[in-house]
Amino acid sequence: MAKSMLVVKFGGTSVGSPQALSNVAGIVGKVKQDWRRVAVVVSALGGVTDLLREGAAAAGSGDSVKAKRCAETIRKQHRVAIEAGSLDGEVVEAVDACLHELEGLYHAVSVLKEVSPRALDAITSLGERMSIHIVSGYLTHAGTAGVPVEASEFLITDAKFQNASPLMDEVSGCARQVLEPIYRRKAVPVITGFIGATREGVITTLGRGSSDYSAAIIGAALDADEVWIYTDVDGVMTADPRQVPDARSLPSLSYREISEMAYYGAKVVHPKAIRPCVERNIPLRIKNTFNPDHPGTEILANGRKTSGVIKAVTAIRDQTMVTVMGGGMMGVPGIAARTFATVARMGVSVTLITQASSEQSICFSLPASSGKPVHSALEEEFRREIDREDIDAIDLLESCAIVTVIGEGMRKTHGVSGRIFTALGGAGVNAIAIAQGSSECSISMVVTKADETPAIRAIHALLVSEENVASA
Ligand code: ADP
Ligand code: ASP
Ligand code: MG
Repeated sequence: MAKSMLVVKFGGTSVGSPQALSNVAGIVGKVKQDWRRVAVVVSALGGVTDLLREGAAAAGSGDSVKAKRCAETIRKQHRVAIEAGSLDGEVVEAVDACLHELEGLYHAVSVLKEVSPRALDAITSLGERMSIHIVSGYLTHAGTAGVPVEASEFLITDAKFQNASPLMDEVSGCARQVLEPIYRRKAVPVITGFIGATREGVITTLGRGSSDYSAAIIGAALDADEVWIYTDVDGVMTADPRQVPDARSLPSLSYREISEMAYYGAKVVHPKAIRPCVERNIPLRIKNTFNPDHPGTEILANGRKTSGVIKAVTAIRDQTMVTVMGGGMMGVPGIAARTFATVARMGVSVTLITQASSEQSICFSLPASSGKPVHSALEEEFRREIDREDIDAIDLLESCAIVTVIGEGMRKTHGVSGRIFTALGGAGVNAIAIAQGSSECSISMVVTKADETPAIRAIHALLVSEENVASA
């Protein structure tokens, strides 16, 4: 019997070339045989969002020639996909209408000489608004009727342009209303990832890389049985395969493990994509568009038992570490609260926090771009304490990375951290600050940029050796 409802999402590389698009059509045709209802969510063609932003920045700084060049590259990329797939006039018209809109938006930005977050959302939304037509065209050509759908029709969000959040209570009803007629025709909706709209119909985006989040939102809204995210690797791996050549794919993870991995830098899934699935207990699967027979990674509430305690190692680059220290801080209430309130006021989110038990220092890391402005704001906030020498210094350590080791089993196993730090010592890596995740399934450390890859590789070697011992 056919299963009920599946959401499949294809990322930029998965729709980035004619060959990839044909694979997508093949995959959707196949899942359609096993599932009664399938919703397809797609990203922009690979590289298009970056180009749209580049053009917007150029237009904003008055460089109309460069903006035009970006638009032209985007046009050609879509043209190649359309021609290779022999897609019909309807697709060409829809894509041309978007390109025309882009021209108008770039022109408006170049006149205003300013790219507001709202304008940038309108501009970058065009990538997904074009790709749905191309993907639907490929599906239809391969015998599965595809219907392009702009998520702005039902994915209602707040008005936080560039980083909007869905208003879930409203999304669910609207999504059903928009998609039901498509299902009645036994067709497959091909929905834009990445975008939504305010109640007034103004386009928003959910943040970079957020098509995964869109898929999870749509899965939750439609009460899907499963959400599958197709990308360009064989599921979630023990480390970023670009950094660790012998990284291997993980058959199974728990929601907690994938949340920590995504939060601490494993780009393979957007960190916000986990929660909508957890809340409705929807299993998530990560699969490879270019190797569709590989089972990929299955993500369930508790995962499945596998060998080894350390599951994976990840990194977040471009971090700055801030240390607020001083003998006079000891026992002075409110220093930590004021420190983090200052950071929060600037709209910056902190990636990692540690505090020495003597209370003589608070140490946290931030994205590098926020380091200097936060430093100035903290000096301002603590001017009096610095003058009174209660606080000795607010230090900045630039060019850092956070390396995180992940595994549910770590909390029940003695000696894991000892082995991790021995491995790091052996590789000559110095951990500048250390924090344990509150879910106790991760340990993070701040290292210098130069130490990042040696740290990742040393921990990965430990992971492999422990796995071998466990399965021997
Ligand atoms: P998509 O365009 O499909 O959303 P992304 O580029 O956002 O794909 O994410 C996939 C990439 O994430 C992979 O190509 C891989 O290089 C990178 N990556 C980083 N860490 C991991 C990991 N632990 N497992 C798998 N891939 C990872
Ligand atoms: N196209 C968007 C981006 O590049 C969303 C995504 O790919 O998930 O950020
Ligand atoms: Mg992605």
